[in-house]
Amino acid sequence: MLDFDICNEARLRRDAAYDGVFFITVKTTRIYCRPVCPARQPKTENIRFYPSAAACEQAGYRPCLRCRPETAPFSAAWNGTKTTVERALRLINKGDLDDTELEIFASRLGIGARHLTRLFRTHLGTTPGQLAKTARVQRAKRLLDETDLSMIEIAYNAGFKSLRRFNAVFKETYRRPPSAIKRRSSRNICHLP
Ligand SMILES: [Zn+2]
Repeated sequence: MLDFDICNEARLRRDAAYDGVFFITVKTTRIYCRPVCPARQPKTENIRFYPSAAACEQAGYRPCLRCRPETAPFSAAWNGTKTTVERALRLINKGDLDDTELEIFASRLGIGARHLTRLFRTHLGTTPGQLAKTARVQRAKRLLDETDLSMIEIAYNAGFKSLRRFNAVFKETYRRPPSAIKRRSSRNICHLP
């Protein structure tokens, strides 16, 4: 669905219009980025494009700590004909799939679970379940960066059922525990003038 050359030209000029529309995986570093990432641009032969952060994670890549994929804007590419996908995404980002069976969730959108899964594969390159998992970690990451909540509060506010589960999923995604990120962001705050 994503045209490689169009995406590549967009990321080389760090085009903000594509922010949230696609994400870039970098084979050499195993991380994924937004098109607007300020880091040195990887060589074209080492990258691939995916239509969602969840698809990048499913492919085994971890989020970049500089461009913070969890802060990418909600993609406007879903306007118009893809309204079911857009609605599903909004609900999942709000946490609506965290405690609900996929079949029940899909019926709220007026379709079956199978159809919803097919739409996700086509438009987002991932499954509703993987997207919900990424959305939980992203909510937690934003809370880590932007609040002084305790780890347990972050875990529950982000939609995890236990602190242990939060720690495990976070570590799997970022290859480091949430406490390492927390310390890192507090240090950054101290450096502000
Ligand atoms: Zn980046």
